[in-house]
Amino acid sequence: MAGKPLRVLACGDVEGKFDMLFNRVQAVQKKSGEFDLLLCVGNFFGSTPEAEWEEYRTCAKKAPVPTYVLGANNPETVHYFPDVNGCELAENITYLGRKGIFSGTSGLQIAYLSGTESLSEPAPAYSFSSKDVSELKMSLLSTPKFKGVDILLTSPWPRGVGNFGNKPGEMDTKRCGSVLISNLATSLKPRYHFAALEKTHYERLPYRNHVVLQENAQHVSRFIALANVGNTSKKKYLYAFSILPMRSMDPAELVKQPQDVTENPYRKSGKEAHQPKRLSGAEEEPACQFFFDLSKQHGKKRPSDGKGGQHSQLKQPKKIHQPTGPCWFCLSSPEVEKHLVVSIGTHCYLALAKGGLSNDHVLILPIGHYQSVVELSSEAMEEIDKYKSALKKFFRSKGKRYVLFERNYRSQHLQLQVIPVPLNCCATEDIKESFILQAQEQEIELLEIPEHSDIKQIAQPGTPYFYVELDTGEKLFHRIKKKFPLQFGREVLASEAILNVPGRADWQQCTASRDEAEATAKAFREDFQPFDFSELQ
Ligand SMILES: [Zn+2]
Repeated sequence: MAGKPLRVLACGDVEGKFDMLFNRVQAVQKKSGEFDLLLCVGNFFGSTPEAEWEEYRTCAKKAPVPTYVLGANNPETVHYFPDVNGCELAENITYLGRKGIFSGTSGLQIAYLSGTESLSEPAPAYSFSSKDVSELKMSLLSTPKFKGVDILLTSPWPRGVGNFGNKPGEMDTKRCGSVLISNLATSLKPRYHFAALEKTHYERLPYRNHVVLQENAQHVSRFIALANVGNTSKKKYLYAFSILPMRSMDPAELVKQPQDVTENPYRKSGKEAHQPKRLSGAEEEPACQFFFDLSKQHGKKRPSDGKGGQHSQLKQPKKIHQPTGPCWFCLSSPEVEKHLVVSIGTHCYLALAKGGLSNDHVLILPIGHYQSVVELSSEAMEEIDKYKSALKKFFRSKGKRYVLFERNYRSQHLQLQVIPVPLNCCATEDIKESFILQAQEQEIELLEIPEHSDIKQIAQPGTPYFYVELDTGEKLFHRIKKKFPLQFGREVLASEAILNVPGRADWQQCTASRDEAEATAKAFREDFQPFDFSELQ
C-alpha cells in the first residue's frame, strides 16, 4: 500500500525576491537532498520593478524545483497571470489557477484558492467570492467517500484559526483572516493548510476533524502560516515536510491522533451548532397517527413482489456490525479508554462516561460494534436489563435514581447513558416534565410510550430516535425526522430543574486528568462490586 513519501517545500510571500528564494531552496537541497515540489502562497510577485522576473521569464534563470504558485492578491499584480485557469509562467514555475484541485501522478491532492476574500459578485480578478468557495467545495465533496485533501493552499489566513490552539503571536485571529477560508478548511479537512500575507510565521497545533465520542476518528489538520521571503526579523518563510498521499495510506495510520491534538478551531460550540430547524406543520404527526404507525410496522415485512419493490428498497435496513474506522467504544479497539471500564459482561460492558455529568455517570455499551439497541441480539438485551437492574439497586442504595437515555442519531456505537439523580432532588414526574418542556422549547415531540414497550418494536433498524427511560421503566420517545440537538439529554439533566450543573452540559467542559478519571473509575468499581453480576460469574 505504501509508496514513497513526497518531499515538499512550502513558501510564504515571495514578493518578487526570486533569487533569494531559489538560492535558499538550492542551499536546502544541497544539505538535505532533492525536493519534489515547491508551493508558494501569498504574494508571489512584488509591486516593484520586474528585472529579476525577466531573467526567469526568458529562461536565463530557472527555478530549481517544480514550483506552483497562487494568483494575485491585488490589482497591481493581476497582469502576471494571463490565464485564470492556470498556466506556465516560466520554466518550472506554474500558476495553479483561481481555484481547483491539483493532483500529481503520486495521487497527492492539493486544493487551491487564489486571491483575497471579496464580498462582491463576481469577485475581481484578484479575489474569490462565496460562490468560488461553494464551487470548490462541491467539486470535492461530491466525490464518493471524500475524506479530505492532502494540502490546501490559500493566501489569507482562515478567520479564527487560533481558537482552542496555541497563540499566534500578536495576531488576533478572531478579527483577521477570511471567514470563507475557515468554512472551506472545515469542509475540505486538509492535512496541511498553508497561508501567508500576514508577514509572520505561525504553526498551529494540529486540530481534529471529528467530534470525539460522536464520530469515528478522522485525520488531523495542521495549519501553517509562513512569513515573507527575506524578512529582516528572520521569521520562517520556508517549510519542508514529507507527505504520503492519503489515498495510499493505511486508514489506521492516517487517523492516528497526535498527543497535542486540539479541538477544531472552526467548529461552533453548543447551541449555535445544534440549533434545531423548526418543523413545518406538515412534518408534524399527531400522536395517534404515530402509534397507529407503530402497530402497523410491528413485526411485519413489506411485500417484496414487483409492486412493493420500491418500498422495500427504500426501507431496507442497513446492518453494519463492523466499524468503518477506529471506534472509541468497541472494547477490542485500541481507541477504547480502558481505564474508564468498570465492569465487563458477556455481551456488554459498563464504563464511566468521559466528561460525565457527575462522577457516577456511566455508560452501558455493547462489547461488539452495534449502533443501537434495535440491532442487539436478545441475549445482549437481557444482559443490558441485568445491568439496568444492578445499577438501579446500586444507585438506590446511594439514595439516587437513574435516568437513562439513548440517542440513535449521528452515533456509531450504542451508548446507553445512565445518570443518577438524588431521590430528594426531584420526583419522576418532575424529571419527565422537564424533558417534555425542554423538548417543546426546541420543537421536539417527546411522547410517553407504554412502560414495557420495546424500542425494537417502535423503531426499525436504521431509524434515528431518542428516548429517555427512568428506572421505573417509564419511557419518553422521539423519532428523529431531520435534526436533533446532539447534547439534548445532557442539557436537560444539567439544567436547573434537575441536577442544576449547567456548566457540565457540554462534556468537553468537564475535563478531568487521566489520573483523576482513573481514580474515579477505581472507586466506582469497588463501590459497585457487590451489585456487579459479571464479577460473580
Ligand atoms: Zn464500535
